[in-house]
Amino acid sequence: MHRLIGVTSSVSVLRSGVEGIFAGDDYTAAIVKAGGLPVVLPMITEDDALAALADRLHGLLLTGGVDLDPAYFGEQPIPQLGEVTPVRDEMEWKLTNLFLARNKPIFAICRGMQVLNAAAGGSLYQDLAAQKRGVLQHAQRAPRWHASHEVTVVPGTKLAEILGAGTIRVNSFHHQAVRRVAPGFVVSATALDGVIEAFESTGHRYVVGVQWHPENMWQRQPIFHKLFQAFVDSCEET
Ligand code: MN
Repeated sequence: MHRLIGVTSSVSVLRSGVEGIFAGDDYTAAIVKAGGLPVVLPMITEDDALAALADRLHGLLLTGGVDLDPAYFGEQPIPQLGEVTPVRDEMEWKLTNLFLARNKPIFAICRGMQVLNAAAGGSLYQDLAAQKRGVLQHAQRAPRWHASHEVTVVPGTKLAEILGAGTIRVNSFHHQAVRRVAPGFVVSATALDGVIEAFESTGHRYVVGVQWHPENMWQRQPIFHKLFQAFVDSCEET
């Protein structure tokens, strides 16, 4: 277990008012099962510290969470924008760019996919219901592991290699989504309403994003663990 996988964290405030970080156990358990060594990353933004982390870590797992500040894709906030956490945005933005520059593997989940797309030069829907006609329910009111809507996996993509081409059902806990896909990326899965549910870089060794939450599904549906296995397998031991 020498492949160190950085797992980004969420801002968490205890009832006492003390602020710190949180990372769901489902992420770190999935990395351990895949043979990686997860390291939950602190909320730091110092450039030299982040560069040193990017040098030492073998892979980056960008986790789910609240909304990205739309300033990162050149927009002002619309009324439906949710909670924004500026320090997390800055930390993940910088670390994502450091990993892309080093051609080191990134697996990006939900918010992580949105951060990745913006960092690579794409844009987001700040709120699907407000900005896209005829969308399905993407913020399901069902248990985390429940697969609520279908996605169609695009043949010939890395995602199709991992999950197989065709239709699968996934869970859905997002009100934002990729709008303009970043240059150098291709869509690898869409929902029936056209919402982009997965994408990947064509120019990097392994940079893959999914809009659903496989970390909450793999315990009941083992196929979703393949996403973590393929990611960890792509990370080189050094
Ligand atoms: Mn969805």
